[in-house]
Amino acid sequence: MAQILDGIRIRAEIEAELRPRIERLLAGRRSPGLAVILVGNNPASEIYVRNKVKTCQTLGIYSEKLTPPASISTEELIEIVTALNRRPEIDGILVQLPLPPRVDARQVLLAVDPDKDVDGLHPLNLGRLLTGRPGPRPCTPAGVMELLRRYRIPVLGRHAVVVGRSDMVGKPMALLLLAEHATVTMCHSKTPNLAEVCRGADILVAAMGRPAMLTAAYIREGATVIDVGTNRISSREEAAAVFRNDPVKLAEFDRKGSLLVGDVHPVDVAERAGAYTPVPGGVGPLTIAALMQNTVEAAERRLGVCSA
Ligand code: NAP
Repeated sequence: MAQILDGIRIRAEIEAELRPRIERLLAGRRSPGLAVILVGNNPASEIYVRNKVKTCQTLGIYSEKLTPPASISTEELIEIVTALNRRPEIDGILVQLPLPPRVDARQVLLAVDPDKDVDGLHPLNLGRLLTGRPGPRPCTPAGVMELLRRYRIPVLGRHAVVVGRSDMVGKPMALLLLAEHATVTMCHSKTPNLAEVCRGADILVAAMGRPAMLTAAYIREGATVIDVGTNRISSREEAAAVFRNDPVKLAEFDRKGSLLVGDVHPVDVAERAGAYTPVPGGVGPLTIAALMQNTVEAAERRLGVCSA
């Protein structure tokens, strides 16, 4: 039986460790402060931001949500970011991605003060990651590393295959695994013989945004499989095919009108992997936990408070 790597349990552990640190900050000066910028009305982004703000509230982190319209220009958004850079009580600034196509996301991310870049996506912080210097790490891959560490999954000397090479997930994931001495292969849409490459993985990370694409043929027996993908299926036929007519899943589909599925085939992974993250309940909760860690760390650094 494959072990399920429970992201909700690990999130609870991380949050329990953050609480005394937040209390110490509050007792000394003030609570950490996070500003989240949500541009326009992307329904998925609205849910992500709501969950981030809710988590801040439960942990005692001050949070502020800014919601400029989708018609905002790059320059106007940069002005909002610059104003947040100047505010002393704001330790972290998160620009929820994706931004509308008319906004130059790279320019906006570049405008965030690197010391307040709790998403770890400023080029300076990505450079720190590349060169092994301390700094905030991108939240989703950082959450995955926490999960591997806390489940004591060996990384050193293992072959890790990362499918997907985005700046936000795939590339930093590969660098973090490399920093922990994995032998890393990065794959993308132009990789030939993808299934064969994936079958060579002790640790397989899927981050493509392709529902249930990595089937049994991609998974080595006993591998650790990390599924970053979050895809919503809203066709009943597709849900029936992916979940092989599982009546429980189909009943869930009928109740909700859609189902979440990762980039890894949910039935095959349970049969072949040694350990795997479920969708939902795997990587998703860890992304927010890592954001909270980055925010608390930014506040500690800015207020000169030691985390120990
Ligand atoms: P992205 O920017 O769209 O990048 C997708 C990557 O996958 C690209 O590098 C692309 O290759 C590669 N790819 C696409 N189709 C492929 C195929 N058929 N074979 C091999 N590689 C393929 O996506 P992202 O932002 O990294 O997100 C990836 C997934 O993770 C999405 O489902 C997203 O919703 C999810 N996600 C989840 C969380 C979470 O907290 N759980 C956080 C972030 C993202 P090319 O570069 O060659 O185009």
